Amino acid sequence: MSSNAKFIYDPDELNYRFSDEHPFNQTRLEVTIDLLKQVGALTEDAILKPRIASESEIKAVHLPEYVNAVKALSAPNPTDEAVRAAAKWGLQDEDTPFFTGMHEKTSLLVGGSLKAAEVVMSGQAEHALHLGGGLHHALPNKGAGFCVYNDASITIEWIRRNYNARVLYIDTDVHHGDGVQWTFYTDPDVCTFSIHETGKYLFPGTGAVEERGEGLGFGTTINLPVEPYTEDESWMESFNHVLGEVVRSFRPDVILSQHGCDAHAFDPQAHAHCSMNIYLQMPKLIHKLAHQYCGARWIALGGGGYDIWRVVPRAWSLLWLTMIDHPLIQTLEQQPLTSLPPSWVKQWQKASQLPLPATWLDPIEEWEAIPRRAEITAKNRRTQEIALLYVSDPKASQNPE
Ligand SMILES: [Zn+2]
Ligand SMILES: [Zn+2]
Repeated sequence: MSSNAKFIYDPDELNYRFSDEHPFNQTRLEVTIDLLKQVGALTEDAILKPRIASESEIKAVHLPEYVNAVKALSAPNPTDEAVRAAAKWGLQDEDTPFFTGMHEKTSLLVGGSLKAAEVVMSGQAEHALHLGGGLHHALPNKGAGFCVYNDASITIEWIRRNYNARVLYIDTDVHHGDGVQWTFYTDPDVCTFSIHETGKYLFPGTGAVEERGEGLGFGTTINLPVEPYTEDESWMESFNHVLGEVVRSFRPDVILSQHGCDAHAFDPQAHAHCSMNIYLQMPKLIHKLAHQYCGARWIALGGGGYDIWRVVPRAWSLLWLTMIDHPLIQTLEQQPLTSLPPSWVKQWQKASQLPLPATWLDPIEEWEAIPRRAEITAKNRRTQEIALLYVSDPKASQNPE
C-alpha cells in the first residue's frame, strides 16, 4: 500500500454543529474513520492534525466586515446589535444559523484544508484528504447552505499566493459549487468545474451551463448541470467526457476536489439517483488525472452528504482507498458486492434508524430503473456539448495557421 497520502483530522472538527437537529452532522467523520480502521486502511502515521487558519488567511477571501460579524456572533451571548445584523450576513436562516464558537470551529476546518494544501504543495505527500472541509457555498460576504467560511476558496487563494500554481477545482457535490465559482469568476488561473443537479429545482439555483466566467476568466468556469433523477451511467459519462477535455485544455498544476456525496439516490436533500458506484469511479478518474497532469498533486475535501449512515461512510472511504491505491479498490471492480466488515455494520446499526447496507457498492440490479432514463441521458448529452463550447482544444491553439 502506498503511504504517500495524508489524512487530516481532529476530533474537535465534530463540533462544527449548528444544532442537534440540523442535517449537517459531522458524526459522519467518525463513522467513516471507523470503517477505514476496521479494514486496516487508516493507520495513525497517516493522520495529521489540522491547524487553525489565521484571520488574515480567512480575510484573503472573506470581507473583514463579514469575519467581524461571524466573530461577534460566536460569543455565548452575542450583543443585540450583532444579532440584528445576522440576517444580513446570511447567518440567521434555517440553513446557516449562527452558533457559539462558530468562528473558532470554522477556522479549524479551514486550517485543515490549508494543512492538506501545505502537505501537498511542499511535496511532503502526493495527496491529502480533509473530509472536515468542503464548505463550498460560503461567499466572500455571506454565509450560506450550511457553510460559514469557504475553506475551498481560502485554500485556492493560499495556493495562488504562495505557489502561483494553476488550480483546477472539481466539485462533485449534487449542489452547485457556487461560492468557489463566484470567488474566482474572473481569474484565468483558477478553473472551477462543477457537476451538479440542475439549479432549476435545487439550492442554490445557480450553476447554469452558460455561466462560463468573465473577462480574462471567461472559459475557466465550467458547469455541468444534470437532470433530476440522473443515474450512474449518464452521471459518469457527463463527468468523464467534460472533465477530460477541461484538464487537457487548462493544464492545471494541482487539483483541489470537493467530494459532497449527496447525489446518491438515498440522500434526502436532492433528486439525483446515483448509486455508490459513482463514488468509486469519480475519485479514480481524478486520481489518474492528478498523476497524469499535475505531478500527482491532489488535495481532496469532504462536502455535503446527509445520509450519514448508509452513504457517506462508504463514499468517503472509497475516496481514501483510491488515494492510497488500496487493493480493495481492485477487488470492487470485479466484485462490487464485497461485504463491509460485519462488526462495523453491527456497531453503527445501533445508531441508524434505517438498515445499514451489507456491501461496499449497491445491488443496483435490484433497483427500479428511472422510467425517463433515455430522455434524461439525451438531455445530459446536449448539456455536455454546450459546456464544452468554449473549452479550447490545446492542439488547435498551438497551430494557429
Ligand atoms: Zn450538497
Ligand atoms: Zn496516487
